[in-house]
Parts: sequence; structure tokens; C-alpha cells
Amino acid sequence: MQASQAAAAPVQTPTSTHSSKETYRHTKRTAKDYIFGKLIGDGCYSTVFLAKDIHTGKEYAIKVCEKSHIVRNQKVQYIKREKDALNMLFNVPHGFVKLYCTFQDEERLYFVLSYAKNGELLHYINKVGSFELNVAKFYVAELLLALEKMHAKGIIHRDLKPENILLDENMHLQIADFGTVKILEPEKIKSPTPTVPEDQDSAVRSRKISFVGTAQYVSPDLLQNRVDTRASDLWALGCIIYQMISGLPPFRASNDFLTFQKIQKMDYEFPEGFPAEAKDLVEKLLVLDHTKRLGSSDTGDTYESIRRHPFFEGIDWENIWEQTPPKIS
Ligand code: ATP
Repeated sequence: MQASQAAAAPVQTPTSTHSSKETYRHTKRTAKDYIFGKLIGDGCYSTVFLAKDIHTGKEYAIKVCEKSHIVRNQKVQYIKREKDALNMLFNVPHGFVKLYCTFQDEERLYFVLSYAKNGELLHYINKVGSFELNVAKFYVAELLLALEKMHAKGIIHRDLKPENILLDENMHLQIADFGTVKILEPEKIKSPTPTVPEDQDSAVRSRKISFVGTAQYVSPDLLQNRVDTRASDLWALGCIIYQMISGLPPFRASNDFLTFQKIQKMDYEFPEGFPAEAKDLVEKLLVLDHTKRLGSSDTGDTYESIRRHPFFEGIDWENIWEQTPPKIS
């Protein structure tokens, strides 16, 4: 991607008010409206660049997808769903990267996203080895709040993992990469664990084809029954809690097939010193039967049974997004 420049345009003062964000969403943009800078991420189907809007000076993360690559790999539906999910989440104030606008040229599709300046949660887990309990507690609580909002809208992420959890400039968490979402029909949202039979492009199929290295977070229900439920994200939540505290995901093997076997046999153990309340929560989330997983029977818009778990003692659910996150150590 070449840095693109455009003729001088009137400079607007950048603001962060709700209405200015809305206005931005409805402003027609092209690649010429941005100066493309460094590469900030690379996925199977996209490349993400830091880019500056030449009119406002504001920075964005622009996800660029080659149309031919998308069509060749039959990912057109994925891209559409990613856009739909991001649009559904635009007005949720916290917990998600925001999609400001999309545009295309002959060869590429562009997603203009809010820039999560501090990058992937995985980087921090790898950097410090394992999180202190108060740090893990804080980020798990933010992740749970984001899951509540997402699930209340009928969106199942299906690829939650520390690479897809980003941190904004204030070190608050934002879920990213909605490329494998499932969007439930409205009548299925309120059912405790809506079950949707596997379709042509289930997460498992796609993982077999292209998601090498992230089999660690797939739920057994996706593997065995080939069904999509909100509880598959709760399984991933259990894996992520384990990883924040121990440094590695619970199910690890030399290849995806062996990893899937370990998941189906629940073949994992806790390292010595793993805090008791965290262990108990992980054990209640990593349950083979998805209907028995903690939270899977909650019918409201919040996961009350998870929030009430002793692991979260001291969490201020109402004000967490306004708090200064604890320093990662
Ligand atoms: P995957 O192959 O994992 O499905 P993908 O092609 O769908 O990837 P993303 O996961 O959305 O692409 O983005 C790839 C990487 O780019 C992310 O893991 C992250 O490091 C970075 N990235 C994506 N969006 C943003 C953002 N809004 N702000 C900062 N970095 C981002």
C-alpha cells in the first residue's frame, strides 16, 4: 500500500462528541482522504494500517481487504457480517472498536476503525508472563461487560482470543475482529442458549481451512454438536482467564487435531499457585455441556451469575470504564 496523499482540503477541528462521530459515519470517504502510515496488523484476510484523516488529523486503523482474495476464499458473507456487527455495536460506548465508515475501490475494501493505540492484549500477557490477580480481574470484568452487550444484541463472536482483544489509548479493552461472527435472529436472542445448527461457513470449518493456531479457544459444542451458542464465547472467556493468569491457554498441543482432542477430553490442568477463586470460575466456564456453563442460563441482558462469582469481588461494574486500569504487571 502506497501512502496516499490528496489535495489540500479545509481543516476541521477534531472533536470526540457523539454527534461528530455520527457525522463522520455519514461522510463519504475514499483512500485519498487518508495518509496511510505504518502497518499495525496482519490477518488472514486483511492488512491493517494506521492512517490519518487529512481533513481532521485524526488517526484511524484502516483494515484493507483485497476483493479478489475475499472472493477466492468465499469470505464475502464474512465481510458483510463483520460490517453488520460493527454497525450494530457502534453506539455501545465501551468495549468495542468502532467502525466509522467503509469504502471501496476497484481492488480493495476499506474499513475505517477507531485506532486501539495500545495493541493486542496478547502482547501484554506475553510481556509480563502472567497478570497479577487485580489486573486479571479488571480486564476479565471489562471483557464480561463487553460480552454482555454483544450477546444482548444477538452477536456471537466465535473467535475470542487475546489477539482479538485490543487496548485503547487509556488501556481500556476493546473487542476487535468480527470476521467470524454469528448474528442471531431477534427471536433467538432471549433464549438462554440459542442453538443454531451449523451452517455452511461455521467457525469450525473456517478454522480447519485457515485459522491455524487459534484452535485453542474453540468450544467443544462447536466441535462436537456443530452448534453456535452464546456459550461458546463463555468457553473462550474461560480459556482467556486461564491464559491471563497462567500465561498460556489451557489446551495446547503440537497441532490443531491434538488440541481438539484435548478440548473434547477436557485434558488440561492448573499450574501450581493458580488462585482458588480464579480456578473455580474457570472450572465453571470450561464445562463440556454448554447448557451447564456459568452464565448460559442467564436470561437478562447481563450475566448476573458470572458477575456474582467471588472472583469479581470489589469490582465496580457501573464505573469500570471510567476508572484508571491497574498497571499491567
Ligand atoms: P484474523 O486472521 O485473526 O481473523 P483479520 O484479517 O480478521 O485477522 P483483524 O484481526 O481484524 O484481521 O486485524 C488483524 C490485527 O490488526 C489485529 O490482531 C490487531 O493487531 C490489528 N488491529 C485490527 N484492528 C485494529 C484497531 N482498530 N486498532 C489497532 N489495531 C488493530
